[in-house]
Amino acid sequence: MFFFGHERYVVRKIKTAQKEIFLTFDDGPDPDLTPQVLDLLRETKAHASFFVIGEKAQAHPEILQRILREGHSVLSHSLDHRYDLYFRGKDSLKTWLQKSLLQLEQQTGVKQSVFRPPAGVLTPPLIQAARELKIPLVLWNHRFYDTALPWTENRAAKNAATLVPGDIVLLHDRQRKQNRTLFLKTLRKYLQEVQQRGYLCASLSNSILQNEVQDVQHSK
Ligand SMILES: [Zn+2]
Repeated sequence: MFFFGHERYVVRKIKTAQKEIFLTFDDGPDPDLTPQVLDLLRETKAHASFFVIGEKAQAHPEILQRILREGHSVLSHSLDHRYDLYFRGKDSLKTWLQKSLLQLEQQTGVKQSVFRPPAGVLTPPLIQAARELKIPLVLWNHRFYDTALPWTENRAAKNAATLVPGDIVLLHDRQRKQNRTLFLKTLRKYLQEVQQRGYLCASLSNSILQNEVQDVQHSK
């Protein structure tokens, strides 16, 4: 049986009793933007999750260490951000998932057991691979298409008014050069709006995401 929208191994938000949301940054680490995002998070006492591309993480180990040192989480957004594997079989996808997690595990020293697919693509073989390996596929329930459209303060403020506890927000800490200033300005505004509404920005972890998958299992 195949319930695409309610697949157990696909996580789009977290069940939580806390007034918290989860900001996630994809596609880094970026030597220019990631440190500036980290500065802003530190200044506003917010935490976040960085879904890194393994090859970029290897190229910038010092940024990876800083992310971890400052209390954020580092999770896998694949080794290489490839798209062509989606069209191969389940076994190629399993190898890809395992390689991606192992590489990041070696680099972070943290056991990795979750995965965010490039572009959030879900195909039946990927879901099957994730299910067999018991690897939650982590998506989001808020996004701004911030690499394609200008992320304006107005859009950020409107979105902040719609948040509920446990929401997962997708952002990117890799932006075109001409968009970086606007991105950081808007991120500041978004953090302010979110915090004024009494939300804590918390980081995800492998265990939070694994629990989410277990809870769904028990509630069925
Ligand atoms: Zn990506």
